[in-house]
Amino acid sequence: MVNWRELKREKNFIGGNWVDAESGLSIDVTDPATGETIGTIANAGTSDARLAIDAAKTAFEAWSCTTADHRSKVLRKLSACILDHQDALAELLTREQGKPLAESRLEVGSSAAYILWFAEEARRIYGDIIPSPWPGRRITVTKEPVGVVGAITPWNFPSSMLARKIGPALAAGCTVVAKPATQTPYSALAYGILAEQAGVPSGVINILTGSAREIGGEMTASRDIAKITFTGSTEVGRLLLRQSADTVKKVSLELGGNAPFIVFDDADLERAVDGAISAKFRNSGQTCICTNRLYVQAGIYDRFLERFAAAAANLMVGSGLESGITQGPLIDRSAVEKVEQFVADACTKGARIVLGGARRDPDSLFFPPTILADARPNMRCSQEQSGLGKEGSKYGIDDYLSVKYTCIGGIAA
Ligand code: ADP
Repeated sequence: MVNWRELKREKNFIGGNWVDAESGLSIDVTDPATGETIGTIANAGTSDARLAIDAAKTAFEAWSCTTADHRSKVLRKLSACILDHQDALAELLTREQGKPLAESRLEVGSSAAYILWFAEEARRIYGDIIPSPWPGRRITVTKEPVGVVGAITPWNFPSSMLARKIGPALAAGCTVVAKPATQTPYSALAYGILAEQAGVPSGVINILTGSAREIGGEMTASRDIAKITFTGSTEVGRLLLRQSADTVKKVSLELGGNAPFIVFDDADLERAVDGAISAKFRNSGQTCICTNRLYVQAGIYDRFLERFAAAAANLMVGSGLESGITQGPLIDRSAVEKVEQFVADACTKGARIVLGGARRDPDSLFFPPTILADARPNMRCSQEQSGLGKEGSKYGIDDYLSVKYTCIGGIAA
């Protein structure tokens, strides 16, 4: 049985080698539950990104020519390797991200499921035959991998977000340069170990940690990167889209939102409360599809509020490693400060604190489940992304493929 420490790598994974940043600089990574440093990672910059892109470009030549069946088998093996290490990967995830161990286990399980899904998709990259307007000629449409993919992921689902990018990329025949969030690098770096175990060829998956601005800058400027896939804030998404314009890349963005949860007078109260609890509080309010605000119709408002507050009061806040805990810490100091600012702003503008509202320990990153009643649209909590609510986007393999038209028997006019 592998220990989580054995899956923790502190260097960049480039061309199949574990290497330090060229600058020799590193960054500390902390456990948000304890504030303790759990390790250091490479502080990579522009030149490291260049090396990773070169490695991915070299590997693309052979990987893009493999058969769909071969890629499918490699991805199946990768999925199996993830499941073989599910417990250790889950503990690694909880230690860097803070979410309860049970949720980390589920996330790692979903990573394996995504990879398996795309293992199947790899074998279904069909083409078309278009009826030709010319006698004696045939027009075929084939799909080809777009090239090297730059993948930038956030800290809320550090394992599965990367699986959703690596899976379709490799299935399509693309190679990847991945940059995880600095707060949660280890779940991503572990893919280097898993890739080695699964027989993914060197350079097909490259992972580097460090300066987001420099690595993102090099990824978007490089002519050797054909596609950028990003999950994160709207602000950074906009920046990456802008930066990708000069080299006309394919770009897939999954960005922030402020999702409303609506309860009508005739709602089933129990179901509405259960739904609101899981939609709002999972991963301490930091999930992709997290509810940001609730609209409750006047006739059910008081009853809903009472039941919702009672259910939220039962949530258990603490270290994700302890059993029975449902709410881990927030990811970092700035996340907690943002919540505090939201609460203060709302109270100034007339909101009523029904539950929580303040940290019990000012030095910790634990923030108790908080309910503000009588909120108004002019409050920051009603307008801005509070946790990490992301709007979904499609994750099909087609995003990693380009279409090639061939006219057999002559040239299409
Ligand atoms: P959030 O922390 O809300 O997820 P971010 O968009 O800041 O939002 O972070 C998501 C990912 O984007 C992380 O991996 C982060 O390091 C990366 N990132 C942040 N700024 C940049 C940038 N200028 N260029 C490229 N990536 C960035």
